[in-house]
Amino acid sequence: MSIRNNLEEIHRHLPVGVQLVCVSKFHPAEMIEEAYEAGERIFGESRVQELCAKQEALQHLAIEWHFIGHLQTNKVKYIVPFISLIHGVDSPKLLAEINKEAVKAGRKVDCLLQVHIAQEETKFGFSPQELLDYLADGLWKNMAGIRITGLMGMASNVDNEEQVEAEFATLKRLFAKVKQQHFGCEDSFTQLSMGMSHDYPLALKQGSTLVRIGTAIFGERNY
Ligand SMILES: *Cc1c(COP(=O)(O)O)cnc(C)c1O
Repeated sequence: MSIRNNLEEIHRHLPVGVQLVCVSKFHPAEMIEEAYEAGERIFGESRVQELCAKQEALQHLAIEWHFIGHLQTNKVKYIVPFISLIHGVDSPKLLAEINKEAVKAGRKVDCLLQVHIAQEETKFGFSPQELLDYLADGLWKNMAGIRITGLMGMASNVDNEEQVEAEFATLKRLFAKVKQQHFGCEDSFTQLSMGMSHDYPLALKQGSTLVRIGTAIFGERNY
């Protein structure tokens, strides 16, 4: 299968209005160009150094870069000048740092707050209660350098589809609650980033608006 064919197959499953983030981490710039030629514009990377190198190499293309992994606060400054969306904002400290660097750079950076929905211990993110407490606290409203445009989550990496779908459903309910409590319908809080290569059909069933897909487009990664 070619990248173009893989993309066609995925787009057949995507409802209108759902955006595809092509997760290109560990793959060379040439593969990004191939997907770009097939019409893709949003690419996701999870390592700062790799992202910055690719951004520089591909500056001639109209790519919208998304950061999708765990972001260390000391590396925020490197991506703030060009990043379109940061998916995995997993702590108040990280959001404050993004705000600080964005203000310095004269930008407003869109951010998704990452919520821990999986049973696994190792995943980063706010617990649902931490998220509600943090938003109620209201500090974020004074941050001129960021805009919270939605939530992101990763389901457990298990074969049990009921469990995976239930975890996505939990995030969807939390999204609706947060939107109602803190943003209202007119606002820009619209993005629900959930679903990867192996579970995106279940995420779509639960209302995902942004799927992050790597392997199903580019093949296996060589770590
Ligand atoms: C790598 C990664 C993906 C893509 O995973 P695939 O299984 O290759 O589709 C999605 N989201 C995050 C946060 C990732 O780190």
